[in-house]
Amino acid sequence: MWPGYANADAHLRDWISQWGEHQIDPSLAVPDERLATVLGELADRLRDNYPFGHVVYAGQMLKPPHPIAAAAYTLAMRINSNAHALDGGPATAQLEREVIAALMGMVGYEPAASLGHLTSSGTIANLEALWIARELHPGKAVASSAGAHYTHGRMCRVLGVEHRSIQSRTDDAMDLDHLEAALAAGQIGTVVATLGTTSLGAVDDLPVILGICRARGVRVHVDAAYGGFFRLLADGQLLTPAVAAAYRSMSGADSIVIDPHKHGLQPYGCGSVLFKDASVGRFYQHDSPYTYFTSDELHLGEISLECSRAGAAAAALWATLQLFPLTADGLGRVLARTREAAIKWAALIAESLHLMLVTEPALDIVCFLPASGEAMTVSEVSAWTERIFQAGMRHDPSAFFLAKLVMTRDQLDPARFGHLIWDQPTVTVLRSVLMKPEHADFVPTLHARVVEAAIRMQR
Ligand SMILES: *Cc1c(COP(=O)(O)O)cnc(C)c1O
Repeated sequence: MWPGYANADAHLRDWISQWGEHQIDPSLAVPDERLATVLGELADRLRDNYPFGHVVYAGQMLKPPHPIAAAAYTLAMRINSNAHALDGGPATAQLEREVIAALMGMVGYEPAASLGHLTSSGTIANLEALWIARELHPGKAVASSAGAHYTHGRMCRVLGVEHRSIQSRTDDAMDLDHLEAALAAGQIGTVVATLGTTSLGAVDDLPVILGICRARGVRVHVDAAYGGFFRLLADGQLLTPAVAAAYRSMSGADSIVIDPHKHGLQPYGCGSVLFKDASVGRFYQHDSPYTYFTSDELHLGEISLECSRAGAAAAALWATLQLFPLTADGLGRVLARTREAAIKWAALIAESLHLMLVTEPALDIVCFLPASGEAMTVSEVSAWTERIFQAGMRHDPSAFFLAKLVMTRDQLDPARFGHLIWDQPTVTVLRSVLMKPEHADFVPTLHARVVEAAIRMQR
């Protein structure tokens, strides 16, 4: 299957065999041919899908894990350890500590003074960060920008915390004048800054946000679920100086969420939350009569909200980071290719007569709309977008897969979009997440296909 996998698997079997023979109960036995049939049926069912791993797919934030992650996950799943407690799997607990220390190192936290763990998702990771924020600023609101992920507003409802929305600029980053005005009343205890918004990949001006918030004793949580690993490019030339500065200032945030299952080459089920100050561990304390007996130290089960969680996720991330360490030359090379793809495509779109950029991409997400050089109603543009979107979803090698984004008038720069006639409240545009390094070389082909479809689908 994977190089070295059979040996690694044999090594584990060898380990288990020291306890003597273990007979599988007949109730679990299945004929090989039935197993094969079901797998075949499953493969058939799985074909009802979009080709996320193929270069023609440039739509949503989706891509398959790297083979090392898949192999490591599968191997660790043979043991199926559980991160709920140290007894659930000492080996994967240790691997999790090591990957968390690596993530802390990447963002500039001091591992010995900080606290963190993997989670099943960015949603849970953000929930934990907002929960700690509530405990530290009881009775105060949490603010996130209009471009922030919808999970913040929703999780504030779950936590019974008031949520305030801060306006975003037309590049989708937080409007700092509006932030200052919102903070003036003194009712906001925590501000969520987003490094890599989900729709446009915008990066909030974190150095300024930290300055504004520190002066008022307001907590800053950074949601870098999508964009966190772009920290690896902050010392190079591929990010704008402002975006690079935002990444370099991450260490000033009180908490940070990064999803290895987005840009860390991992299968789903791998988010992370990091707290700058390890003492927040006190909020997690619980008294369980049944899970702990092997350690006096705070361990993963005592510092996370989730109980059962795949130990295999830590194994997969650890193995991946052995091959792609969190450096500019390691995983950074993969991120650099996705960023190159976005820069290239943005340049092609800017020159095109048939497409218009919504805004310059900060990371690797490019949003654009079809244009004819003439005034058009937004309902016409939206219908045209829809036709292009559909035209690409073919079952042959000339396909292209994009995503769509619904935008309101205030999200578009009036200086550039004066030709739009607003006959309805929203306009649908095309969105492309260029998450795969292969996109860097594919972009000219992708652009040609999209332009061809735009011309053909204008009607
Ligand atoms: C994806 C994402 C989330 C949600 O994370 P999940 O892993 O999908 O639960 C939160 N915030 C941002 C900015 C994201 O991109």
